[in-house]
Amino acid sequence: MAPIRKRGVRVSFDLILKGGRVVDPSQNMDKLADVAFAGGKVAAIGEGLTDAKTVRDVKGRIVTPGLIDIHTHVYWGGTSLGIDPVALALRSAVTTVIDAGSAGAGNFHGFRRHIIEPSPIRILAYLNISYPGIFAFSKPVMVGESTDVRLLEPNECVRVAGEHKDLIVGVKVRVGGVASGPAGATPLYLAIDAADAAGLPMMAHLDKLPPARHEVLPHLRRGDVLTHCFRPVPNAPVQGDGRVRAEVLEARARGVLFDIGHGGGSFAFRTAREALAHGFPPDIISSDAHILSVDGPAFDLLVTMSKMLCLGMSLNDVVRCCTSAPARAMLRDELGTLKVGGIGDASVLDLVAGDFEYVDVVDEMIVGKQRLFPAGMVVAGKWMDTTS
Ligand SMILES: [Zn+2]
Repeated sequence: MAPIRKRGVRVSFDLILKGGRVVDPSQNMDKLADVAFAGGKVAAIGEGLTDAKTVRDVKGRIVTPGLIDIHTHVYWGGTSLGIDPVALALRSAVTTVIDAGSAGAGNFHGFRRHIIEPSPIRILAYLNISYPGIFAFSKPVMVGESTDVRLLEPNECVRVAGEHKDLIVGVKVRVGGVASGPAGATPLYLAIDAADAAGLPMMAHLDKLPPARHEVLPHLRRGDVLTHCFRPVPNAPVQGDGRVRAEVLEARARGVLFDIGHGGGSFAFRTAREALAHGFPPDIISSDAHILSVDGPAFDLLVTMSKMLCLGMSLNDVVRCCTSAPARAMLRDELGTLKVGGIGDASVLDLVAGDFEYVDVVDEMIVGKQRLFPAGMVVAGKWMDTTS
């Protein structure tokens, strides 16, 4: 890049994060190093980097590629479940927020214009197969957007996905007793048709029966995401004896990806413990933060990551599940990495030891020994203060 001159001094970089523990699973990297940014990109990683307009001391802190929260609901004001994407990003040091199907073909353009385009944080989206998106998700009014098959129009989904290729990373479908009710698994089959025609991956939500796991999992394709993967009974992925169910193992072997999607009703410590004990970690960790989960039990991505750390996952595995793994699932490998020359996003975290209480969706409380806190982030080479 062209060096910048400032006060007669040759300045090579815009920003250096100095002396942090750089954890980037996309490069098998876990070492103390400086990370430099210039021109909105990662410019260098190494020891003793100097010559920057701004140098930030991050000694004792963790520097990761910009965190990705692949399951949130941030169509604020346009849908009843939507929360403010920027507030969510800043409290969790997330540089890429993915909305998981709040908008459908009928209202995606408003999401784009009013929320995504003005946002200083990158927002991408799964497009709901249901034309109005998730239109009635709240405590007083809860009507699943997949309950009426008249709302599910694959051709409109394909058309709008094609018009917003820069933002739409896949097709979202929600099936289950709450989300699709009498329509059962039919919305899933329509979503697969749409995703196939659009050449996109799909993210599927499954809540209570119907449909059952075996009506959903065998239909998911390589690279499709099953969210809410560690939900409690019913439709839990583990049996009563703790073993992972055969159709779940078969789906993973086929290349289906399993995402936490914590939310208000979709993550149980018991399920997660059993899955981990039986060699079944998640592929992706996400918060499913929305109006009914952002003030607990999910809170945000860092709390969800902390829960998985406290259940025994390694820091490197947890970071992979929130960086390169979701990037791959979205076919956006330029995200979730600190490769030199790539997008200049990074998250700065504090891993604090202590006694921290965590609660799941069935009110099990555990006391964990560590918790991740936000300490800042870099978006396209520019520093942003986080909140806590
Ligand atoms: Zn959700």
